[in-house]
Amino acid sequence: MNKVWEEGSNLPISHRGDVIVVGGGASGVVAALAAARMGQQVILVEHEAFLGGNMTLPLPLLGYLDRQGNQIIAGIAEELVSKLRERGAADIHRQCPFHVSYTIVDAEAMKALLLEEIDKAGVKLLLYTTVVGVIMKDHSIEYVIVESKSGRQAIEGKIFIDASGDGDLAFQAGAPYELGDGKGEMQPPTLVFTLGNVDTDQFRRFCADNPELFDDFDLSDSHFAKNEKFIAIGLRRVIEEAGKAGEVTPPIDRVIMFHTMNPGEMAVNMTRPRGVDGTNNEDLTRGEVECRRQIGQIIEFLRRRVPGFNNARLLRTSHKMGLRETRRIMGEYVLTGKDLMAGVAFNDAIGKASYFIDVHHGSNEGFSLEFPQKVYGLPYRSLLPKGIDNLLVTGRCISSTREAMAATRVMPTCMALGQAAGVAAALSAQAGISPKKICIATLQSRLREQGVLLPN
Ligand SMILES: Cc1cc2nc3c(=O)[nH]c(=O)nc-3n(C[C@H](O)[C@H](O)[C@H](O)COP(=O)(O)OP(=O)(O)OC[C@H]3O[C@@H](n4cnc5c(N)ncnc54)[C@H](O)[C@@H]3O)c2cc1C
Repeated sequence: MNKVWEEGSNLPISHRGDVIVVGGGASGVVAALAAARMGQQVILVEHEAFLGGNMTLPLPLLGYLDRQGNQIIAGIAEELVSKLRERGAADIHRQCPFHVSYTIVDAEAMKALLLEEIDKAGVKLLLYTTVVGVIMKDHSIEYVIVESKSGRQAIEGKIFIDASGDGDLAFQAGAPYELGDGKGEMQPPTLVFTLGNVDTDQFRRFCADNPELFDDFDLSDSHFAKNEKFIAIGLRRVIEEAGKAGEVTPPIDRVIMFHTMNPGEMAVNMTRPRGVDGTNNEDLTRGEVECRRQIGQIIEFLRRRVPGFNNARLLRTSHKMGLRETRRIMGEYVLTGKDLMAGVAFNDAIGKASYFIDVHHGSNEGFSLEFPQKVYGLPYRSLLPKGIDNLLVTGRCISSTREAMAATRVMPTCMALGQAAGVAAALSAQAGISPKKICIATLQSRLREQGVLLPN
């Protein structure tokens, strides 16, 4: 690529804080709340015009419970869902033979609640603001550089948290990272869309009456019979039959849909552009265009082949594609799929989870799945990027292998990681030391006091 020299400039320092959080999705909002509630001056920088990240696509929250139905994720993650429930905007945690557990929430109510909570906690919020660079001093970040309608500015902080999902801040700061499988393959993104005018009772009865269409995913008739709010993943044979009949088929080998909080609505998680690198703007553009093209095909398939959908109407599409996989920042410990399968508890655990390894293939319509039978721990060292002293990573971009990330990426787990990052950042800022130097026992006891569930 040809290059052009950009003159250096004196940047205005627009804000100063103790803890700077980049990204206001599942992990970032919780990190900001946790740090602010411990008395820190927190600045939360978010690229979009709202908070919630992928939670607002919409998506169900997977994995509050383990396979036995015990709650394993609580703390702020549970507090937010309880507050939504009080407003009639969240369902109960439901056990699921495939998804372990799912909790349906109303995305619009979630957006409103997160803004209220961030305001109540005294967090300085900057929406419409994108982190594009850093100014380093030795091995520490001194300023993040942001761009917005106000131009290019610098924000000064003591401790920084990268909750951008893509590891943008850690990448800018020069932390080592891996991108997908290292050869260009990444899990595909999806533009989620919501259909209205669906006869969800008819669809649920069809699912309950045809359990063989869901046997790949252990979803039996009783699952559909007892859950009026349900996730449907399956119907592989119906898609194959449509293909044989020469009809338009979805770009994925199974349907993935879930009931929203509203009657007659199903959200559809089935668009799948191939070969998209979510850190490349040309790929992202191609992916968005392709997803919007696929929506028409998927609706046509559902109307023709799936009972309950014949009068379905497109109500809304998500604000952008959700990205399943981009950078994983390499840290003091790299969490592996083997750790998850063995149920390792970790002495430095800051949370626990039990969601399974769920790799959507980026180059074809299939999946690879592995199911840990035990609860596993989330090690604090995976939040500490190598080579940078005052940075924590949280959420999707923690230090992990592809396999481990394919499990820890679900949102309740990301919220648990966020709470740990926020508390660790507060302890570090209070003591004036690196997050790498804080006392793990103190971190764990603060988390326990806040209702977080740990494995040990
Ligand atoms: C299609 C799809 C379906 C999924 N299904 C489920 C599901 O059903 N249930 C489940 O629990 N999980 C699901 N997941 C996984 C889950 O949604 C994500 O892994 C999780 O939301 C990641 O949380 P996060 O906080 O790390 O990132 P995000 O939720 O992505 O939040 C990152 C935030 O950072 C902001 N940001 C990014 N870069 C910058 C920057 N440079 N400057 C400022 N702000 C920035 C973004 O705008 C965003 O708000 C799914 C993911 C996808 C993509």
